[in-house]
Amino acid sequence: MILIDGKKEAANLREELRKEVSSLKTKYNKVPGLTVILIGDLTPSQIYVRNKEKSAKEVGLKSEVIKYPDSVEEITILKKIYELNKDDTVSGILVQLPLPKHINKKKVIEAIIPEKDVDGFHPMNVGNLSSGYKSSVPCTPLGCYLLIKKVEPNLSGKKAVVIGRSNLNGKPMTQLLLKENCTVTITHSKTKDLKGECLKGDIVVAAVGIPELVRGDWIKKDSIVIDVGINKTEKGIVGDVAFDEVSKIAKAITPVPGGVGPMTIACLLKNTIECFKRLQS
Ligand code: NAP
Repeated sequence: MILIDGKKEAANLREELRKEVSSLKTKYNKVPGLTVILIGDLTPSQIYVRNKEKSAKEVGLKSEVIKYPDSVEEITILKKIYELNKDDTVSGILVQLPLPKHINKKKVIEAIIPEKDVDGFHPMNVGNLSSGYKSSVPCTPLGCYLLIKKVEPNLSGKKAVVIGRSNLNGKPMTQLLLKENCTVTITHSKTKDLKGECLKGDIVVAAVGIPELVRGDWIKKDSIVIDVGINKTEKGIVGDVAFDEVSKIAKAITPVPGGVGPMTIACLLKNTIECFKRLQS
């Protein structure tokens, strides 16, 4: 069984990105810049943003966090985004989710120009991804995709089952696997016989948010299992996959923590660099 080491893969990716930033600096005499807007004082958001800032600096990106209190007005955020859209030193803009209830998420996402949308949430990027064109791809599914490709470079003809259909994870994951010529089944809370669907998968990606939903007898022998879930339980953080059971059957599996999570931030840096290169050309 291959334990897919997300920490190691993310470190390798960051090292590649560090070298790329250095050569971009030589070529353009400037480095890609990532600006994160953080609203409110939710602890998980603060931790994510701190980790993003630290990793961005590690690879040599210019990194900035703009903080607002929970009570900030929507118009203030929109004006800041318009300002950042025009700022040549900013290659990527990210507004940390979730937002306070009085701020319209759709308006905020659509205010960021697609060229600087490092999260890949803008409808233009979503459309480009589903049409098979170049686009920013949401960081978590991009990380999952890179991990799957490490284990199995040729995915053509494989049967993939994605559990969850969120815009953040399930849907973009499906598009990435389709692009690789997988036959993809996307499942959700109304799917009948989820176990039966999973049993058909050469690849199973679980992005649900239910602790250890996917059991050992849901998985075909020698499949690749990617666990996106991060669930706080009495026994600590666990994924959507019952690791002890599934790791006995699968060919390869990501642990939680230490699997998909570390790749998410590394992919954000990758997206920032891609945005920079696109903006230069
Ligand atoms: P989400 O928006 O809540 O979507 C969950 C999806 O799971 C929905 O499509 C839902 O179906 C489906 N679902 C719910 N119960 C189900 C069931 N019993 N059987 C089959 N499908 C079911 O969640 P998300 O934002 O995609 O996040 C999913 C998990 O990933 C969470 O644990 C989150 O913390 C984690 N996450 C991890 C990272 C990372 O970096 N590792 C990043 C983001 C999120 P319906 O559409 O029918 O409701």
